[in-house]
Amino acid sequence: MDKQDILDIKALLTTPKKIAIIPHKNPDGDAIGSTLGLLNYLLQLNHDAVVIAPNDFPDFLKWLPKVETIKIHETNKDVCDTFINTADIVFTLDFNALHRTGNMATVLENSNAIKIMIDHHQQPDNYAKYMFSDVTMSSTCEMVYHFLDKLGALNYINPEIATCLYVGIMTDTGSFRFRSTTSTTHRIIAQLIEKGADNTQIHNNVYDTNSYNRLQLLGCALSNLKVLPEHKAAYITLSQDELQKLDYKKGDTEGFVNYALSLNKTVLAAIFIEDRKQGIIKISLRSKGDFSVNELSRAHFEGGGHTNAAGGKSDESLSKTVEKFISILPKYSKALNNE
Ligand code: 5GP
Ligand code: MN
Repeated sequence: MDKQDILDIKALLTTPKKIAIIPHKNPDGDAIGSTLGLLNYLLQLNHDAVVIAPNDFPDFLKWLPKVETIKIHETNKDVCDTFINTADIVFTLDFNALHRTGNMATVLENSNAIKIMIDHHQQPDNYAKYMFSDVTMSSTCEMVYHFLDKLGALNYINPEIATCLYVGIMTDTGSFRFRSTTSTTHRIIAQLIEKGADNTQIHNNVYDTNSYNRLQLLGCALSNLKVLPEHKAAYITLSQDELQKLDYKKGDTEGFVNYALSLNKTVLAAIFIEDRKQGIIKISLRSKGDFSVNELSRAHFEGGGHTNAAGGKSDESLSKTVEKFISILPKYSKALNNE
């Protein structure tokens, strides 16, 4: 995004517009934080703006400022489609290809609205008129901060926006520890605290919300943990029966894969979660160092993401998917053992 793009967008936003703000399917803290943060800014400029999420998101995000205004496409399709079809501008946040919105992809492809992408995932598709794509960024929330800075709009950051952006930076950096966390990230976090983000309260709201069942599910996941020391890899499985037994709720498995990665000498970690309703195995992959799970997922599991965090899926059974994972590892063994 160059200077002219910023001038164009600034000019676009000088008169009230109808604006849809879209996160990816199964939105996480960064997707919800960035869209709500941007929403809050656009509402201050008197735009008719709304966040439209492809589907529901975890309860640990449901306290965020203005979260109650989010429209869910999966359960409110007609209203959402009409809004998108009549929007002047569509912001797409925290994803790099329209298919990442699931069933919303078609309405977004067909929309005549001016599309503005803000995203930090690798290999972005070229669907937006204005592309603000930077794979070195810790999070889309950090990018929204830079975007507001470029627009000369930092003074619009109120405690609500500061809270939303803090949440996304915190969740996408594993609480400021992943490699994408820079001194600039910390400077922005400092600014957000000065502008009213209550860091202790935010950490409590997001991380200290375990239900008894979720902790039991973690126990189940940890007892299913398998280690492949020759490949410096570890993986966890969760079957639909195990999820159901412990009354699984959306978001309950968030972060489980990190326990596999926390094993000493482990460079690659995976979690395989059976979703019988969709007929797929949802896969989360994590790595340390230069080993790219983005590449691994693109090559074998119809997914992608970042170097050290990616997602994907498999249409085969849980056991077949695990077999496939184990069978491809010898190809990567050299790279894994070099880390
Ligand atoms: P998670 O494992 O937490 O679902 O996702 C890790 C990262 O990979 C996130 O940045 C997420 O947006 C991205 N990601 C997850 N699933 C997919 C996928 O199917 N395709 C692509 N391109 N990225 C994904
Ligand atoms: Mn993100």
